[in-house]
Amino acid sequence: MSATEPTIALDDELELISNPVELESAEAVLRWALREFGPDVALATGFGAEGCVLIRMLSEIDRNARIFYLDTDLLFPETYELIGVLEARYGVCFEQRTSRLSLTAQADRYGERLWERDPDVCCRLRKVEPLREILSGLRAWITAIRRDQTQARTGARVVERDRKFDLIKINPLAAWSSRDVWRYIKEHDVPYNPLYDLGYNSIGCQPCTTLVQIGENDRAGRWRGIAKTECGLHQ
Ligand code: SF4
Repeated sequence: MSATEPTIALDDELELISNPVELESAEAVLRWALREFGPDVALATGFGAEGCVLIRMLSEIDRNARIFYLDTDLLFPETYELIGVLEARYGVCFEQRTSRLSLTAQADRYGERLWERDPDVCCRLRKVEPLREILSGLRAWITAIRRDQTQARTGARVVERDRKFDLIKINPLAAWSSRDVWRYIKEHDVPYNPLYDLGYNSIGCQPCTTLVQIGENDRAGRWRGIAKTECGLHQ
């Protein structure tokens, strides 16, 4: 698919596109995104359940569509294993993005176990800066966020302007519930992280992810004990 000329330059144009797209299926939104942006759009995934859904959908539309992940060097072994499983199942090839700092270099500069002392700095080094680098070469990115995941995500549109990273952000699953996600996974036999079956409802870096208790929201297990709820990628 070849790149197309930018057609979205103004917020009112974005509004005209966003309203009808809100009502489309997630697959239709992905098709629209690939038509509109070609190789200048990519799906970002952390291999959560929602990401696995979008990977399957994208592979059905165009298995050469760009999909990247931020490898913090601190993901669960089960997540690294899932990456290979998804590539084999869907014939896709994920782009891996890493921090410029190895874990050793980070420890030398900031001290050991930075995630315990200053997770915002750790997330900036290992997630936000690598994301900013890849997004600087794109016109749009696709994310797997849902509105009901956290308070901060309740206002997410299906298509919106990402002012933090200065490009278009596409959230095809914005209106989906957790139930919708798991129904899709079961119906299409989509591989997913086995940690979900142990009670992890949102899976990020190993040091900052804990089990979710009954009655807690899906992301309650992330950065437990501190007020942080986002890595800095979506706010
Ligand atoms: S989630 Fe934790 S370990 Fe991962 S980058 Fe953020 S602070 Fe560091």
